[in-house]
Amino acid sequence: MAQDRFQSHDYYLMDELLTEEHKLIRSSVRDWVKKEVSPVVEEACQKATFPKQWIKGLAEIGGFGPYIPEEYGGGGLDQVSYGLIMQELERGDSGLRSTASVQSSLVMYPIYTYGSEEQRKKYLPKLASGEWMGCFGLTEPDHGSNPGGMLSNIKDKGDHFLLNGSKMWISNAPFADVAVVWAKDEQGIIRGMVLERGMKGFTTPETHGKWSLRASATGELVFDNVKVPKENIFPNVKGLKGPLGCLNSARYGIAWGAIGAALDCYDSALRYAKERVQFGKPIASFQLTQKKLAEMITEITKAQLLTWRLGVLKNENRATPAQISMAKRNNVNMALQVAREARQIHGGMGITGEYPIMRHMMNLESVITYEGTHDIHLLITGMDVTGINAFE
Ligand SMILES: Cc1cc2nc3c(=O)[nH]c(=O)nc-3n(C[C@H](O)[C@H](O)[C@H](O)COP(=O)(O)OP(=O)(O)OC[C@H]3O[C@@H](n4cnc5c(N)ncnc54)[C@H](O)[C@@H]3O)c2cc1C
Repeated sequence: MAQDRFQSHDYYLMDELLTEEHKLIRSSVRDWVKKEVSPVVEEACQKATFPKQWIKGLAEIGGFGPYIPEEYGGGGLDQVSYGLIMQELERGDSGLRSTASVQSSLVMYPIYTYGSEEQRKKYLPKLASGEWMGCFGLTEPDHGSNPGGMLSNIKDKGDHFLLNGSKMWISNAPFADVAVVWAKDEQGIIRGMVLERGMKGFTTPETHGKWSLRASATGELVFDNVKVPKENIFPNVKGLKGPLGCLNSARYGIAWGAIGAALDCYDSALRYAKERVQFGKPIASFQLTQKKLAEMITEITKAQLLTWRLGVLKNENRATPAQISMAKRNNVNMALQVAREARQIHGGMGITGEYPIMRHMMNLESVITYEGTHDIHLLITGMDVTGINAFE
């Protein structure tokens, strides 16, 4: 990628709603992304590799478990801080944000919320420091939008459980040291557990050939008679509400993250439109270009307001899962539309790695699908406002 000239945009003076601490956190993550991510992200995506050196940097900027209490190695920060960190990371790349989201919301959050004190002490500090990386196994080959139908299962063998089954599309799987896995017990109740790399019968083959999230490693989790010690099962949750609670936290982060990707596309398109001359004038002087830019900043501003309010509600423990669904759905779709319009403004240059646009656009095709698809979130809103379930 050419030099990272990103400048953020704050059309409705949203910064006035943030504390000095929020702004400090945001600028330190932004600086790190400019220095350590932007120079290498394009090549990482072209080569489809996750730059492992990012792990140390992510830990240092507080990217792992920002809202987990400090006594367990987390940042002890509020939800708006968490959102701002996700926004700045995704401004760099959705794959980078995915790695941090999974570690924080899908691995550290369930261990903190559903785990025993021993599990918290054993795993959280190492996950916060990046010494251990985690992944989250919910989706299966035949159960994506309908995770409640999962086939992975555990059988009680006295002093341990025997786990069988498989998971698909698992972010961080190829290099994860631990995996939070969801499987049904003999009564058909979903249980959560922590698996460790090296357990006999547990493998994590990598998924190749993605055109999206290429700087994030994705893989399968395969369980072939894995002996899971009973102390690795989460004692404090049973049923689908376990994984759904984690998804709530991750989806909230994605709602913020998508704004970062949209801001990067808008910022690049605005600068390009002012610099690129056709027919003797900057293309920014044509009405059709202005329409695109005006609509982009309008949609970004609406998403910023929606998300900030959601952050306040989340800090007060009042954000509902349906409100989070609405923000995830709206903001990711908004970012994808902004990326597509920004691509048009960049003309042919928009498809190259000189600019971040095409990379964001392709990444967002995954973001609009994972953690609940665009249509599934619409059905969640529909169910919330009508009281009628249209899923089945
Ligand atoms: C890059 C990437 C990373 C991922 N990382 C993880 C991870 O770390 N952990 C994890 O567990 N999962 C992960 N996922 C999986 C992701 O959450 C699923 O892909 C997603 O939930 C959709 O499931 P599916 O792909 O099986 O699609 P399906 O569920 O088969 O859906 C296909 C289509 O049918 C539609 N559809 C389904 N049901 C309905 C309905 N009732 N009404 C209307 N339309 C419906 C969907 O909206 C979609 O358009 C990841 C996926 C990707 C692509």
